[in-house]
This record gives sequence, C-alpha cells and structure tokens, in this order.
Amino acid sequence: MASNDTLQRFTFDNTHVRGELVGLKQTLADIYQRQSYPEPVNNLLGELLVAAALLSATVKIEGLLSLQVQTDGPVRILVAETTHDGKLRGIARMDEEKEWNDAQLLGEKGQLIITIEPNQGRRYQGIVAIEEGSITKSLEAYFRQSEQLDTHLWIRCENGVAAGLFLQELPELGEVQESLEVDEDAWNRLNKLAQTIRTDELLHLNNQDILHRLYHEEQVRLYEAQPLQFSCSCSKERLSVALTQIGYAECQDIIDEQKKIRADCQFCGQHYSFTQDDVNGLFPLESAKNGKGLH
Ligand SMILES: [Zn+2]
Repeated sequence: MASNDTLQRFTFDNTHVRGELVGLKQTLADIYQRQSYPEPVNNLLGELLVAAALLSATVKIEGLLSLQVQTDGPVRILVAETTHDGKLRGIARMDEEKEWNDAQLLGEKGQLIITIEPNQGRRYQGIVAIEEGSITKSLEAYFRQSEQLDTHLWIRCENGVAAGLFLQELPELGEVQESLEVDEDAWNRLNKLAQTIRTDELLHLNNQDILHRLYHEEQVRLYEAQPLQFSCSCSKERLSVALTQIGYAECQDIIDEQKKIRADCQFCGQHYSFTQDDVNGLFPLESAKNGKGLH
C-alpha cells in the first residue's frame, strides 16, 4: 500500500501542481473492529476516510474536516472525519430493508457534504451531488465547481487496506516572474502518468516506489509524512449536548423509568451514562421547577 497510515505531500519543481498520498491499514482495522459492516460497505467507508485525509491536507486550519455521504441507496449514510493532526473516525448506516448489490450501494441519488469546523472561527459547508455513484468523481466536481481548481483523485480500498493519490493544479499567485520557468504542459502530463497507476500498485507499493513508478523522469519533492490513526473525539460533555437537544421532559422520563440514561458513542462504542444529578446540571431551571433539583 501506499506507506502505512500516513499522509504525505509532494510537489513537482517548476509547476503549480501539488500532490498527496494517503495509506490506511491499522486505522481501518481499528474502525472496522468496532462495527460489523458487509465488506463492500467497509470498502466504501475506507475510500471516504482516505478522501477525508487527502482533503485535510488542502485546508489550512486547526480543527475538524468531515465528509458525509447521504444516499437513497442501501448505504444511507457514510461519515468520515479527520482532525488537522490526523485523527480519523468513521461510520456507515445501512437501510436493512433494502436489497443490495455491490454496484448500487449508493443508490440513484445522493449528496456529499463537506464540513470544515475550525477550532476557532466560522464553520464552512459545501454540498455536491454524488456523480456516477463515485466518491472520487463527486469530489473532483466539488473542486471544479466550488474552488475552480482542477483536481484528480485515485482511491482504492480492498481487503482491509486503502490508499489514495491526489493531484491538484493551484492558481498562479501574483506576478509571474520571467526568470521562473513554469512547465505549462505539466498538469496534463502528470495526470496522464497518474492514470497508469494500477490498483495493486497503489495499495501495495510504498510512497517512494509509487512516485518512482509514475514520475521517475520528473523532479519530485517529497515532504515529511504525517502519521494517521483512529481516534474518537467523543466525551461525556459532547454527548450531553445531544441530551440538551432531546429536551428535559424526555430525559427526565428515562431517568424516572431506568434511573439513568445510557448513551453509546456511535463511532467507537464507548458507553456513557447520565444520572439524575447530570440531568439536573444540564437543565437546572426545569429540574428545580419539577422538584428534582439539587437539595
Ligand atoms: Zn467515541
């Protein structure tokens, strides 16, 4: 595979083209073992996780980037999230009633939602239709429409390994210096070469070998690899936000019936429980009014 559980950037001298390589193996194992999806769903989720990691390298913020696929097919929802420092998590939700075959998992209609949540600053959201049942085609369309950037992605996932290759042409910034010789044909040539990558090469060669295989006649600059890993950002505080959205009456009903509210993180399966005191803390006014307040 592309080098294990890393994100690595590369550039080509005298061009405006940037590239990224992502490989996932242990990260996928950690995510798959917490769920039990059919193999084709695991592969789609693996692809989306690779896409999230590739995109995170194009965003210069500290925070969270998430990709959510919503479809009318047997796979209703796929979510892949990454933090700026390479912590990934993901889930899938299937429509158990629907019959499915591998080719039609994403149905006829769907959308891909890209959300960027900086730790500080405003949240950004972009939406694009799912094109030809393909995550990569949809993302290429997104970059073309929303960012006016020519972008190509190659993503593969099978047998518990996933890998992705990303190429993007950046706009020329500022005045073009005459002394700087820009290679005008580079974008077309580099894409044609990338097009020749085979699935087994992308999945099973390390990054140096992939770049040598594709670009041994080009001036490639490979940057330091960033490690990627599964990690869930859930906490009791974050789940309590969901409880405040359910509302006091319903929370208190569950406490009255079952003494505590059990909530499990859907990404990692971690159990959390909330007692009467927790509910009082979340809804001080209502619980006081109801005589359940702190004594
Ligand atoms: Zn969790």
